[in-house]
Amino acid sequence: MTEGTQRWEIGSARVTSVVEAQNDGIPPGFFFPDADEGIALRHPWLAPHFADDQGRLGLRVQAFVIESAGRTVVVDPCVGNGRDRSLPFWNQQDWPFMERFRAAGFDPDDVDLVVHTHLHLDHVGWDTHRDDGRWVPTFTRARHLYVGAEVEAQAADGGVDAVAVRGDSIEPIFAAGLAETIDADTDLGGGLRLAPTTGHTPGHASLWLDGGGERVALITGDALHHPIQCSELELAWVSDEDPAEARATRRRLLTEAADAGALVLGTHFPTRPAGTLTADEDGAGWRFVPV
Ligand SMILES: [Zn+2]
Ligand SMILES: [Zn+2]
Repeated sequence: MTEGTQRWEIGSARVTSVVEAQNDGIPPGFFFPDADEGIALRHPWLAPHFADDQGRLGLRVQAFVIESAGRTVVVDPCVGNGRDRSLPFWNQQDWPFMERFRAAGFDPDDVDLVVHTHLHLDHVGWDTHRDDGRWVPTFTRARHLYVGAEVEAQAADGGVDAVAVRGDSIEPIFAAGLAETIDADTDLGGGLRLAPTTGHTPGHASLWLDGGGERVALITGDALHHPIQCSELELAWVSDEDPAEARATRRRLLTEAADAGALVLGTHFPTRPAGTLTADEDGAGWRFVPV
């Protein structure tokens, strides 16, 4: 594979990670307010792929591209270039994301479907790009799917990033007639099933993939952010809107994925984002074992 991409087979389907950016060396408390400094060191299996030997975490922004049943499906297309965003590491960036996307063999005009687990700014960015001063669709022929409850919640959010995302990444898709609003619980055909995983946001959904092989796959979205949450089930992300609901969702989703023996693809998992779940020795949670 070319730089910044990884690929897995799920039966007759294929999933490719196209990376926008990865940050390493992050103190756990930066994104997990309840975490103490040594939390990752108590889970030695996290090193070296998910944490360093000082217990600092890695996190990635990546899109997963699914090829299944003759369709090309993009899931959660990252932050995007040239955006006004409040966080410095997302503001006015210039990443080679589309170059990586094309080098992996994809043509944006051939994408059939874009799926959004939710509408945070790091999951919708490449839906558009700037052309002659205007934000225009990138995946020009794709149906872009939005969960209705998530669109409503996003529209009611007056935060500076939410307003900006609406203007440069969401509204241009609706204006172009490429948007379709659906329920969080929807069979998308071709072995894809969207399932509600609320808590991080009110309309959050995760995506199951059955490629007809032995193993199904699960794309988490932000139902969990880092493999440490497979063991530390109580650990809430800084922007989980309803932390209690997000905890319950995480426990349910991980139980389902473990019972199914699923290949879990963590949307923000760094370095080795695909893996299976193995019960922790104490039986309280799971270890994430990368494939
Ligand atoms: Zn999010
Ligand atoms: Zn995210």
